Amino acid sequence: MNKPERFRPPSVDTVLRSAGGELAIANHGRMSATDAVRQVLDRLRAGGQPIGGSVEQIGRMALDFLEERGRPSQRPVINLTGTVLHTNLGRALLAEEAIEAVVAAMRAPTNLEYEIEAGQRGERDAHVRGLIQELTGAEDAILVNNNASAVLLVLNTLAREREAIVSRGELIEIGGAFRMPDIMARAGAVLREVGTTNRTHPRDYAEAIGPQTGLLMKVHTSNYVVQGFTAEVEPAELAKLARQHGLPFVDDLGSGTLIDLSRWGLRREKTVQDALKGGADLVTFSGDKLLGGPQAGIVAGRKDLIAKLAKNPLKRALRLDKLRLAALEATLRLYRNPDRLAELLPTLRLFTRKAADLRALAERLQPQLAGGLGSGWVVDIIDCASQIGSGALPLETLPSAGFAIRPAGKAAGSAVEKLAAGFRAVPVPVIGRIAQGALVFDLRCLEDEALFGAQISALKLEGGDGLA
Ligand SMILES: *Cc1c(COP(=O)(O)O)cnc(C)c1O
Repeated sequence: MNKPERFRPPSVDTVLRSAGGELAIANHGRMSATDAVRQVLDRLRAGGQPIGGSVEQIGRMALDFLEERGRPSQRPVINLTGTVLHTNLGRALLAEEAIEAVVAAMRAPTNLEYEIEAGQRGERDAHVRGLIQELTGAEDAILVNNNASAVLLVLNTLAREREAIVSRGELIEIGGAFRMPDIMARAGAVLREVGTTNRTHPRDYAEAIGPQTGLLMKVHTSNYVVQGFTAEVEPAELAKLARQHGLPFVDDLGSGTLIDLSRWGLRREKTVQDALKGGADLVTFSGDKLLGGPQAGIVAGRKDLIAKLAKNPLKRALRLDKLRLAALEATLRLYRNPDRLAELLPTLRLFTRKAADLRALAERLQPQLAGGLGSGWVVDIIDCASQIGSGALPLETLPSAGFAIRPAGKAAGSAVEKLAAGFRAVPVPVIGRIAQGALVFDLRCLEDEALFGAQISALKLEGGDGLA
């Protein structure tokens, strides 16, 4: 005998005829809707609890389940972490020109590997090679999946079963398991470490060179600096040494910029042109770090060496697809006019936003944020120090502004974590960071104020209070 309060499920058909059920069918099809209603009913039956009323409610739950499941896994977020090139948030945002080029390449066949004038088979990297030659002065260039691939291809081609000589001060690990010694091993190269962590001298390299040597390599210490009693060998000196022994000298720049960033008040970082002028035979760098383009790995340098890389079967496995080639070409075109770069290239635009403008933005948004959060929270405007990210200019910070949000009175230690989770649960998740008991939002990367405002309105606080 059923007790009267026990859950008595309606039939699946009844739920499908409710408003929610009908909408579920319209939006997701009868099969998915039926399945969702069954799942909801099963869950309710397993829970055994009486649910107030209604077929309507169950229909709505089935619809919610389907909407939730239908949401893309990868979706836009609002980056208020203060790190511009955030690897976990997808690094560089593409310029509109690049976005348009990608969309065009998606919609129609292209001359990806076809020479239109000659009417014959062409080469995919040719679309970008000329631009790299023009912008960097390199003899030649080749494109792969990312800079990790670029390093892998170079080592595998030029130092397989031979030694690659690197300073102990440059055996980097980049977040996400790029460790130079591991890449070397996978490339089939034997790592020959020279010098010490803090000091490496020309003679260290010279003494390590022998018949087994494949190349000399310099690696940009992207995400750290060695300070104090230090010595490193200038690239020009390494280049000379390499030349004397007929060995290639490879400079892994990591981020790799094509322009002098001091023009925009940033610290000057060695450019690709500098590295090539400094005697590097090959330079490797990323497309989606300081360059501000799509994920890609670029190798620029000596023609004969690039030709060897092109012949390696690994190149085929690591090659770029037409979408990223389109994005990279469009991005590089923007570098032809540096005067407009800070306006057109989102990465540079974000780097160069002024602290005063960001503070004004904070002052504009503060009332809405404080109002949305209600009396339980204090929203202070604070100075922030944004980071470039992705291991580029690791010690450089950009003066910025934002918010520190703290509980107004005494609150559980987890209150700030819960608030951060609440901001992640809105339709366009807002990602900040927690520091010293506060949820901190750095506004450097916030360009769409209205979008942020809409997320504040959508925020659901625990206890249900504080919604404006
Ligand atoms: C970032 C970096 C890499 C890896 O580049 P990805 O494009 O992320 O694969 C390799 N070397 C250095 C020095 C780097 O900074």
